[in-house]
Amino acid sequence: MSTSLNPFEISQQQLDEAAAILGLSPAMHDFLRTPMRELHFSIPVQMDDGGFKTFQGFRVQYNDARGPAKGGIRFHPDETIDTVRALAAWMTWKTSVVDIPLGGGKGGVICDPKALSEGELERLSRGYIRRVAYFIGPDKDVPAPDVYTTPQIMAWMMDEYETITGRHLPGIITGKPVQLFGSLGRGDATARGGIYVTREAARALSLNLQGATAAIQGYGNAGQYAHLLGRDLLGLKVVAVSDSKGGIYSPAGIDYGQVVKWKDETRSVVNYPGADNITNAELLELEVDVLFPAALENVITASNADRIRAKIVGELANGPTTPEADTILYNNGVTVLPDFLCNAGGVTVSYFEQVQNAYNFYWPLEEIHTRLDDKMTTAFHAVHQMAQQRKVHNRLAAYLVAVQRVAETVALRGWVK
Ligand code: NAD
Repeated sequence: MSTSLNPFEISQQQLDEAAAILGLSPAMHDFLRTPMRELHFSIPVQMDDGGFKTFQGFRVQYNDARGPAKGGIRFHPDETIDTVRALAAWMTWKTSVVDIPLGGGKGGVICDPKALSEGELERLSRGYIRRVAYFIGPDKDVPAPDVYTTPQIMAWMMDEYETITGRHLPGIITGKPVQLFGSLGRGDATARGGIYVTREAARALSLNLQGATAAIQGYGNAGQYAHLLGRDLLGLKVVAVSDSKGGIYSPAGIDYGQVVKWKDETRSVVNYPGADNITNAELLELEVDVLFPAALENVITASNADRIRAKIVGELANGPTTPEADTILYNNGVTVLPDFLCNAGGVTVSYFEQVQNAYNFYWPLEEIHTRLDDKMTTAFHAVHQMAQQRKVHNRLAAYLVAVQRVAETVALRGWVK
């Protein structure tokens, strides 16, 4: 049903469910259903051939009751305003569930970054900031990288903002290179946060993860670090991994260093010696203790949810499970760690980056790890407690925790009661 809707409508449906259980007033519910502000603009860019091309850009500040809006900028040919609105809503719930003093925002440009030269990409990035400079700021709205935007792009954007304002303000944007006011620990933060939450879920289930098996769908930033940190921090034996070309499976376990080397050399994990090739669909249905979807949305649906045999599903990807599948997994006793809790480590370390930028004082890596662990562990327990109290699945529980916190601040400010 909901899979035919656009992402913004899906985000509204999820809010509606939470609002009904929380008993939000109709006025509060109505207020939280739409973005507070959005900016639509055109960015003219001089191309390498001397001609000009105009790109469409967006920045949405969904809600900033709990602090400056926070969220990435995507460069994507299929970008739409409704995708940006949905992602901005999810950022609002994500920063709330991990209880960092930030709101939710998102930005995007309709473009194909793979078809742009480095110079064109730089001019587009600087042009984006020229359009939004008055709308954003370290105390208003702080962008970050997202799909197809990189630390280099963040560096250009920070530089453009500082040039416009004539001030040193590295906290305008996060995900910057470490040499240019970025934070240590940002690279593996998403997977690390997910691993901490998985550890807490296993404790709550009295499940011993030492030597337990795991499968990982997607072998990029989130998936590869989940392999490494799952092994090093939890003692997980990863028996299957995959990428867009397919997957591999070995009951004896897959060696992290070897498979990364294989993927670097061949551009895929497929045909890795010592493992059998499997499909992405087969990987999801393996009998493992922990499954990490770390690639795409809508991979666990009503048609395969009944065959998922993992005890814990740690959603590092955004939106891997459809609402219908959620109910099936819950009824089958599978513990789902929902995306906006499980992958919140990235935004949490982005927040640490902002704090360090504001102080102009930089923390050692151990401090980042300890503080991230604290945030993720506390967030898991708030969600777990809510799930038990209300007898609902973890995703709905995460919504209840997050929406309640945002509604409280909105009411305290006197915007809506
Ligand atoms: P990435 O681009 O580094 O890696 C994506 C991986 O998914 C690649 O290995 C790719 O081959 C694989 N993939 C693509 N299509 C696939 C398919 N059809 N089947 C199986 N695998 C496929 O991306 P990432 O940063 O690791 O992000 C992965 C997911 O995690 C996304 O949903 C993203 O939104 C989410 N996420 C990432 C971060 C972060 O900080 N990196 C933060 C929050 C959420």
